[in-house]
Amino acid sequence: GAALVLGLAACGGGGAGSTEGDGEAPAAEDVTVGVAMPTETSERWIQDGDAVKAGLEELGYQVDLQYAGDDIPTQTQQIDSMITAGADVLIIAAIDGTALSSQLDAAAAADIPVISYDRLIRDSENVDFYVTFDNYAVGVAQANGLLAGLGLTDWAGEPAEDAPEGPFNVELFAGSLDDNNAHFFWQGAMDTLEPFMEDGTIVVPSEQTDIEQAATLRWSQETAQKRMEDLLTSTYSGDTELHGVLSPYDGISRGIITALQGVGMGPSLEDGLPVVTGQDAEIASVKLIQDGIQSSTIFKDTRKLADQSVVAVESFVNGEEPEANDTETYDNGVKVVPSYLLTVDTVHADNITELLVDSGYWTQDEIDEGV
Ligand code: BGC
Repeated sequence: GAALVLGLAACGGGGAGSTEGDGEAPAAEDVTVGVAMPTETSERWIQDGDAVKAGLEELGYQVDLQYAGDDIPTQTQQIDSMITAGADVLIIAAIDGTALSSQLDAAAAADIPVISYDRLIRDSENVDFYVTFDNYAVGVAQANGLLAGLGLTDWAGEPAEDAPEGPFNVELFAGSLDDNNAHFFWQGAMDTLEPFMEDGTIVVPSEQTDIEQAATLRWSQETAQKRMEDLLTSTYSGDTELHGVLSPYDGISRGIITALQGVGMGPSLEDGLPVVTGQDAEIASVKLIQDGIQSSTIFKDTRKLADQSVVAVESFVNGEEPEANDTETYDNGVKVVPSYLLTVDTVHADNITELLVDSGYWTQDEIDEGV
């Protein structure tokens, strides 16, 4: 609403009676955008941060980009200082989606529009817009990646001709429960796997089928590796074979693969390594896919998300509401946040070039080196 119009216009000639046009856009160089990113340990956030900064700077805005090392107090401090330093708009990819209420209250009090980036900030009235990927669709795509890797469907999710009967033994991993996305990924995946679990084509021998059991705090690779090692000991040290693992993020996937190879499985899919899914098309995982080790990942083109956040900033600066393409899905517990959702693609060994190299996301050299 009108409260979001920036207080920068301060137009000299705006005398009494001029009620329209008070929201005239400020000079670009007078606009500062605070950009709060969670961590530099995962490449995607570095790509996001770089692309957001470049896009904003192209418009002439000042940018204050901060990474918080996945530490919640660090992120809250960074946002507090952005507000104190006079940020005009905030873009926030939260570490813990429920931990920012007092920062957002302060932002609202200072008329600073807040754009929730990739992850929905929960439990606050003061989230003005949300740019993200279709997170439920990510979960569906991850489950389809598992099914396709097992030969039950094709890569488009259609039932495969001559599909094997199974049963296939799989284990399930989820992301960090304080990240709203983790729940959407899980829901999309479980809805997709459910018919296969119901008819017995897919079995979870550990019986760990609740998100709480499958969760991985802070999306940590080490935590995932440890849980996989524990599952291998508890459930697969006898005759039970493991065929696939649903993984929500490439870092987690690499932890899982290390655990599997550590007990002598594989080393590649050809030699019986279980099918492992992923997310983010991180360079190390794209190399593993090229090498026939990880089965698939989900490609989220962070350049497009960055662009969309820049478009939203520009709208706010001009005193307008950004254009949403979804106004129903993302209830943050207090309100439904108007959102702009982007689509995703599934990467597997046969479409790396088409999706990642031809689009300029990674070069073939980077993929060959895996860094
Ligand atoms: C993002 C994913 C990412 C994960 C771990 C999620 O919120 O949507 O792209 O894999 O966080 O960083």
